[in-house]
Amino acid sequence: MKLSLVVPCFNEEGNIPIFYDTVKADFKDAGFDYEIVFVNDGSRDGTLREMKKLLDGEIPVKIVSFSRNFGKESAMYAGLENSEGEYVTIIDADLQQSPALALEMVRTLESKSDYDCIATYQESRGESKSLVFFKENFYKIINKFADVEFRQGASDFRTFRRPMVDAILSMDEYFRFSKGLFSWVGFKTKFIPYKAGKRATGETKWTFWKLVKYALEGIFGFTTAPLRIASIAGGASLLGFLIYLIYIIVRCAAFGGVYTAANSAVLLILAIGGIQLLCLGIIGEYLARTYIQGKGRPIYIAKEILKSKKYSEDTEVKNG
Ligand code: UDP
Ligand code: MG
Repeated sequence: MKLSLVVPCFNEEGNIPIFYDTVKADFKDAGFDYEIVFVNDGSRDGTLREMKKLLDGEIPVKIVSFSRNFGKESAMYAGLENSEGEYVTIIDADLQQSPALALEMVRTLESKSDYDCIATYQESRGESKSLVFFKENFYKIINKFADVEFRQGASDFRTFRRPMVDAILSMDEYFRFSKGLFSWVGFKTKFIPYKAGKRATGETKWTFWKLVKYALEGIFGFTTAPLRIASIAGGASLLGFLIYLIYIIVRCAAFGGVYTAANSAVLLILAIGGIQLLCLGIIGEYLARTYIQGKGRPIYIAKEILKSKKYSEDTEVKNG
């Protein structure tokens, strides 16, 4: 098998048949064999039904169907794990990312043997100003503190060579932030710009809060700098407290000032209490991750895994 297309899907019933037909058309003259690995991420619509309809089609199809919605990160992992290709492309089901470009990526990898991965990034997405602002600053902050480099606008739409896929799979951490993992494993990646098309059908699965959660995953997953911020803030507040104390003592002892502490005491308690809570919160974030990782929970639970007949036919031919 030359190429696996890994497709995470959450409520994409309208897009599955269109995606399949587009792939079939775009890969008509590809000249190599390929498979589609659909991951049904606990969809609540007819996504699984639409996938099953494709099991008898011309293209070999695998379906990994989750027991509930585990999120795109888990879906990508499951897809990679069930892929067989020498090359693997992660691609969305909504056709915002063109399968024809995936074919081009494979061709590039074939001709440029020193690259292990071709990744896409978007220059502009026609997103709202606040979202663009949020994303820009997120990348600025994370690149300042994290050990690996994050490229702004980088998407999950990528094609890997098998050794890189295996490296990514070897990182079986529960809290996944794939853009970080892709960078962490190393290898040589070529970034190419692309313009996301319009969703074929349906709506985006991202909400603002899902994005915030995702961003925090990136920060807590790839840097321990917030822990340091906590210590620095704590230290600064303690120093402020000491200076203030000395000031009060000197004022009372040397200049006969009256100590009217009621208001300032309240302020001080609030300030210090706030900093302590913040520190505790940050420590808690890391602790929570260690706790859940310690349980060794699986990244996903598949209810069923289906394969088109094509696969067994191929093995029969090979064995026969
Ligand atoms: N997706 C998924 N699980 C989720 C959310 C999204 O598998 O919990 C899939 C979704 O079906 C799509 C891809 O991830 O194929 C990208 O999602 P979406 O198009 O909503 O994101 P956007 O393109 O708006 O960034
Ligand atoms: Mg999309």
